[in-house]
Amino acid sequence: MRSEEVILPAGAAPEDDVRDRLRKAVRDIPDFPKDGILFRDITTLLLDPEAHSLAVKALADPFRDDLPDQIMGIESRGFIFGSTLALELGVGFVLARKPGKLPGPVLSVSYDLEYGSDSLEVHKDAIQPGSKVLVVDDLIATGGTAKGACELVELLGGYVAGAVFLIELTGLNGRELLGDRPFYSILRY
Ligand code: AMP
Repeated sequence: MRSEEVILPAGAAPEDDVRDRLRKAVRDIPDFPKDGILFRDITTLLLDPEAHSLAVKALADPFRDDLPDQIMGIESRGFIFGSTLALELGVGFVLARKPGKLPGPVLSVSYDLEYGSDSLEVHKDAIQPGSKVLVVDDLIATGGTAKGACELVELLGGYVAGAVFLIELTGLNGRELLGDRPFYSILRY
């Protein structure tokens, strides 16, 4: 599915003034964590309660009329937006964590990053077969992390009702890596 990536109900996409407001609240830090990377820092947005609230509402709006069963947030900034999005929509929140952090029985996936690889884990009993899950992170770059999280949902028998990001770095084509899974982003750089 392409369009505004998920099929948005009328009025669900944020207005340009909301996007401008959010864009101003994100800080750009050159050469972090290494030379050549322009880091999109959402900590300044979190310091601004109006912008934080606008961001969560903009993430929630496309899904209010067709609620998911659960939100999966990706460690660690995906926890911030994911858990508030879950509260905003009134659904449960699932953690996709780095290895060795979750106490119960887990399912793991490994995924490729630009340099090297990494893993994510989820509690096996956190997602029931047939569940509709929104996978949430602050930002999608190459898409490897988000793809790993989507695979966790699908390996447990759930399906990805949307992969949802506040920020998309369009030049890295992360959305292509997610294939046909419905995709939604608010700010594109
Ligand atoms: P990727 O797997 O390449 O899509 O990387 C996504 C993860 O890396 C997300 O959890 C982001 O928070 C983080 N990330 C990657 N690039 C940036 C960037 N330029 N600014 C901020 N965070 C980034």
